[in-house]
Amino acid sequence: MTNNLLSGKTALITGCGRGIGKAIALTLARAGADIVVNDIDQETAENLAAEITGLGRKVLICCGSVGSRADIDAIFTKIKDEFEHLDILVNNAGITRDNMLMKMTDQEWDQVMDVNLKGVFYCTRAAAEMMKEQAYGKVVNLTSVTALTGNVGQVNYAASKAGVIGITKTLARELARFQITINAVAPGFIDTPMTASIPDEIKQTIVRGIPLGRAGSPEDVANLVKFLASDESAYITGQIISCNGGIYI
Ligand code: NAP
Repeated sequence: MTNNLLSGKTALITGCGRGIGKAIALTLARAGADIVVNDIDQETAENLAAEITGLGRKVLICCGSVGSRADIDAIFTKIKDEFEHLDILVNNAGITRDNMLMKMTDQEWDQVMDVNLKGVFYCTRAAAEMMKEQAYGKVVNLTSVTALTGNVGQVNYAASKAGVIGITKTLARELARFQITINAVAPGFIDTPMTASIPDEIKQTIVRGIPLGRAGSPEDVANLVKFLASDESAYITGQIISCNGGIYI
C-alpha cells in the first residue's frame, strides 16, 4: 500500500540491504520518500534499489561501512551532490559478535562498537550538518531490548545499544534548536537474518516468553520507524520506544 506521508522527503537508511533496514527502506519509499540505500554489500543494495525504483521513487546507492570515517565522508559528499536536502536518517546498521565475557576478544568488542556506536555518531554528525541548514530533520536510531534488560553473551552489543540510548537523549537536547528530532526504536526478538542462526530450540523458548506469542516481523519495526520519521511525530523527541510484543514492559 502506498500513501503520501513522506512525499518530497529524502531518507538515508544505513545497513538496509536486508532485514529490518530493508523493510524500513521499502516502507518509507511506499510512503513517498526517495531513498539513499547504504549497506556494505553492493549486491543486496542493488537488489533493493531496483525494488525501490519499481515503486517510482528516486534511489541513490551509497555502499560503505558506517564505522569508517572515510566511507561516511564519501557517502555524504555523494548525497549532497545528488539531493538538495536530507530529511530523514535511520541509523539501522548493526552487528553482533556474541561471546561470554571471559572469552570475548578485543576485536569482538571493537567491531561491535565501531559499527553500532561509532557508526551512529559519524552518520548523525554528518546528517545533522545538512539538517541544521534546512532547519528540519528526523533521526531514528535502532537500539535493542538488550540495552534495557542486558543479555548473557552480549556485553559488547548491550553496551553499544545502551550507548545509542545515551546518544538519542543527548542529541535530542542538542539538536532541538534546529528543529531536528531524534528518537530510538527498541525492537525485541525480530525475525531477520541476524536472528536466523539462533538454534530453533532457543528461538521457541524466546517466543514462549513473548506475551503476543510470536517473533516480530521487520515490518512491525518499520511501521514504527515510519511514524517517527514523519511529521505525525513532530512533538516527540528523545524517546526510546519499544516494539517487542510485550517481552519487556
Ligand atoms: P541484519 O539482518 O544482520 O541486517 C543488518 C544489515 O546491516 C545488513 O544488511 C548488513 O550488511 C548491514 N551492515 C552490517 N555492518 C554494516 C556496516 N559496517 N555498515 C553498513 N551496513 C552494515 O540485522 P537486523 O536484524 O535487520 O537488525 C537491524 C538493526 O536492528 C540492528 O541495529 C540491530 O542491532 C537492531 N535490532 C535487531 C533485532 C532483531 O531481533 N533482529 C533486535 C533488536 C535490535 P551485510 O548483510 O552485507 O552484512
